[in-house]
Amino acid sequence: MSKQALPVNEIFETIQGEGFHTGVAAVFIRLQGCDVGCSWCDTKHTWQVSPDDQVSSEQIIGVSGDTARWAKLSAQQLCDLLTQYSAKHIVITGGEPAMYDLTELTGVLIQAGYSVQLETSGTYPIRVAPETWVTVSPKVAMQGGKTVLIDALERTNEIKHPVARERDIDNLQALLNRMQNKQSVLVCLQPISQQTRATQLCIDACIANNWRLSLQTHKFIGIE
Ligand code: SF4
Repeated sequence: MSKQALPVNEIFETIQGEGFHTGVAAVFIRLQGCDVGCSWCDTKHTWQVSPDDQVSSEQIIGVSGDTARWAKLSAQQLCDLLTQYSAKHIVITGGEPAMYDLTELTGVLIQAGYSVQLETSGTYPIRVAPETWVTVSPKVAMQGGKTVLIDALERTNEIKHPVARERDIDNLQALLNRMQNKQSVLVCLQPISQQTRATQLCIDACIANNWRLSLQTHKFIGIE
């Protein structure tokens, strides 16, 4: 019996466009709620969990569009809903999904045979089943005033770092220097908004450090 309900903004099936799992068919579960405050955030509609925006689950499934609406769903309800999709890879994103304890949801999904990926800013403790692939996209010095947690970095399988300017790469180096397991983590640099200068910075840093370049391929082909 499921014990916890989570605020879900949308569920949609697409191709993972970023990072290690680029190109993999996936169902995205977007949770509502985030207090990290990235100025360039492209999902600002997920920040507030307002009771006024709560709707039924039917009103969020298969409904695209940037709305602040959310529905409360248990881990088992979410798992049952996923049977209508083909993809066997589930991406839990947000918002900031690590605001919530995801141990039950990730456990139920893995038990049902899915591979599960969490996308997080690294500013909350990561509470997931051990088999979960964790992607930390570290958000350093954002308006919300939160810090990237060393425990989140140590748990991550992949660091997917957004880059606009040189300082962002310096910030990444500083984070890596705090980590015990920095040799084993996969580092992907991702130019913000495909800017030419940011892309060149990422290319140079990837070659110099043997990191991986992550392009937001879904934006090139016009899918969500
Ligand atoms: S952590 Fe993600 S959802 Fe939250 S403000 Fe930053 S980019 Fe937006």
